[in-house]
Amino acid sequence: MSDFSLELNEDQLQVQKWVHDFAEATVRPAAHEWDEREETPWPLIEEAARIGLYSLDFVSSCFDDPTGLLMPIVNEELCWGDAGIALSIFGSTLGVAGILANGTPEQIAEWVPQCFGTPDDIKLAAFAVSEPDAGSDVSSLRTRAAYDQATDTWVLNGTKTWITNGGIADVHVVVASVDPELGARGQASFVVPPGTPGIRQGQKFKKMGIRASHTAEVILEDCRVPGSCLLGGKEKLDERMARAREGKPAKVQAAMATFEATRPAVGAQAVGIARAAYEFALDYAKERVQFGRPIIENQGIAFKLADMKTRIDAARLLCHRAAWMGRTGKAFASGEGSMSKLFAGETAVWVTEQAIQVLGGYGYVRDYPVERWHRDSKIYTIFEGTSEIQRLVIARAISGMHIQ
Ligand SMILES: Cc1cc2nc3c(=O)[nH]c(=O)nc-3n(C[C@H](O)[C@H](O)[C@H](O)COP(=O)(O)OP(=O)(O)OC[C@H]3O[C@@H](n4cnc5c(N)ncnc54)[C@H](O)[C@@H]3O)c2cc1C
Repeated sequence: MSDFSLELNEDQLQVQKWVHDFAEATVRPAAHEWDEREETPWPLIEEAARIGLYSLDFVSSCFDDPTGLLMPIVNEELCWGDAGIALSIFGSTLGVAGILANGTPEQIAEWVPQCFGTPDDIKLAAFAVSEPDAGSDVSSLRTRAAYDQATDTWVLNGTKTWITNGGIADVHVVVASVDPELGARGQASFVVPPGTPGIRQGQKFKKMGIRASHTAEVILEDCRVPGSCLLGGKEKLDERMARAREGKPAKVQAAMATFEATRPAVGAQAVGIARAAYEFALDYAKERVQFGRPIIENQGIAFKLADMKTRIDAARLLCHRAAWMGRTGKAFASGEGSMSKLFAGETAVWVTEQAIQVLGGYGYVRDYPVERWHRDSKIYTIFEGTSEIQRLVIARAISGMHIQ
């Protein structure tokens, strides 16, 4: 008998149902309102915290799942409810991932709980890498971190942009350049603790989609953090920069390590949006009558739905494979993490557009959720690495060459 199975285990099925029920009963009914309001949906975050969904314990249990699948499963279900609200609930995990990827065990124990707080005192986290002049090219960050030996503090200066939870987070994880001449190898991640002077929100962006999720600039002006806030510690950073100066090969870059670990879960969010649109379109196509028969009885519509379902399942399998590989320490020899996010993001954009087509005029108006799902899906070809950057990662991995 073989051990191999693509079936979810009992624990995974139970958690999947629990998140789905919350998404169905609480998140989806609120989606339209918070999309229109373009504000952080605090009552939804509070409710998620009350039931234990927004909590360190729950996120830890997802990270701990030995198969790695729980994280994408949970992300898919919550985004099936609504991606904007889901990102408000799960936006903090990006900051958490930044701490987990680079922090020492002591730093993880100190800062990760503070990213969530408690149901009575909710805290948020943010991960700030992108800058106005450094998006895809994360090696060219201008935000500087200067070490002040006399006080054992780091002084951060610069502007971060497009930051999820930026400025409203309690814990900001900021990637800054210590030695710009070394590019990405001269960068490090810093925790900016709650209440630190010198960090503030800049403009808040009005977006096309995921409008319930807060996206803003973060301005750092002589923002001083203790030496202990350098994730991984100074010794490790000095060692890494010395290797770079001697021309020795790099280990893992600070920002890239975080993105690799989070890509399959982000892909799964896109799968959740696509599935929502597909299910809605399928039901609609069975009910909508034109020319005296349900529109699904036309191959032109039925084949569209067949393709939508096929691509969604393929995207989910890629996300699950990459999450499993990440959790079990398999090498991403062909950029499988990037493949999952690339395919899931583009699938979500395509599927939601097809869903609009299936609904016709009803798909184009805000009385129905389908146009919102299309707007929400588009971010998945942009953030956490654009589709082009995912292709670059895959192309370099499969060719072993430095494709430009
Ligand atoms: C809603 C939202 C939330 C976000 N949240 C966060 C966050 O929490 N933290 C964070 O740090 N960042 C966040 N981002 C930033 C996001 O990761 C960047 O927008 C993204 O990396 C792209 O960078 P850019 O916008 O500067 O585009 P650019 O890098 O300027 O790219 C513009 C275009 O050029 C293409 N391009 C660039 N280089 C190449 C190349 N070498 N080959 C081929 N094509 C290329 C890109 O694919 C893209 O199509 C968020 C963005 C948005 C919109």
